Amino acid sequence: MKKDELELRKAIIAKCRWMNAAGLNQGTAGNISVRYKDRMLITPSAVPYDEIEPEMIAAMPIEGEYGAWKGPLKPSTEWRFHLDILRARPDVGAIVHTHATFSTVLAIAHKPIPACHYMVAAFGGTDVRVAPYATYGTKDLSDNALAALKDRNGCLLANHGMIAVGPSLDKAMWLAHELETLAKQYFHSLLIGGPVVLADAEIFRVKESFKGYGLQDKPLKGEGKPSKDPRKPSQPEDEVSKDQNKPSKGRDKPSKIKVEALYDETSAMQATSAASEPDSPRKRKKGKSPAAEPVLLGGTASKRVKVVA
Ligand SMILES: [Zn+2]
Repeated sequence: MKKDELELRKAIIAKCRWMNAAGLNQGTAGNISVRYKDRMLITPSAVPYDEIEPEMIAAMPIEGEYGAWKGPLKPSTEWRFHLDILRARPDVGAIVHTHATFSTVLAIAHKPIPACHYMVAAFGGTDVRVAPYATYGTKDLSDNALAALKDRNGCLLANHGMIAVGPSLDKAMWLAHELETLAKQYFHSLLIGGPVVLADAEIFRVKESFKGYGLQDKPLKGEGKPSKDPRKPSQPEDEVSKDQNKPSKGRDKPSKIKVEALYDETSAMQATSAASEPDSPRKRKKGKSPAAEPVLLGGTASKRVKVVA
């Protein structure tokens, strides 16, 4: 086995352990795959993460015989959607699937995540969809997941869990963590009357600004190295702080839609990540008060999500 493949296998195992330590998954419910040349490396089926060794990671040809695999242990039962995503999406280098609690709660309720927070833009569009239910491990589930992932880097799987995809393993895991955070925030907003949803134009603007800050396309550094505090992955803010001086089109201009408070928050995240105070009210520009009445933020372009009692 070549050194780079061995390192990648070790990185997969490290991420499996990290996602459980971070509360993103329970037991061996989740699985991870990574593109390595013309093969997919994927976690084996039903082996506790503490017991996985690099050689136990299964290898499957991406374009060869569908379902063929090599290794001492069978690949994850969810190999179909992992393989189908890698086949259909050349932009994807790694896939993380978990049963993270809040993502799964929304998936159980068949609730897609709307643009309730600007971070939804990190997933490529104005929402995170729910793939219709199909039995685990089936081709139907894979087809449903692929459709829900169209133009997206993450989706929920009805009555099951979630998937996050990225160009690298670090980025895919970062997105999995972000998706669970979004799901948790959206879930709680439903308890207090439902979110005020941001206008589509604002999400597209944020998506563009992420490209300039390395959040969209650039593979993250430190692959395979979990952060010291499993609940606090450091990658995204590190990436932001490195690039914080790059100009961003329209960053400081008020938009036609009233989203100033949102911009303040984005700028604060970019400016203060090194100080670990991403949303400190003290960093807000003078004369702009925090959103006391969030309903006004999106102006007429926002819409309130109906809460089903
Ligand atoms: Zn699953």
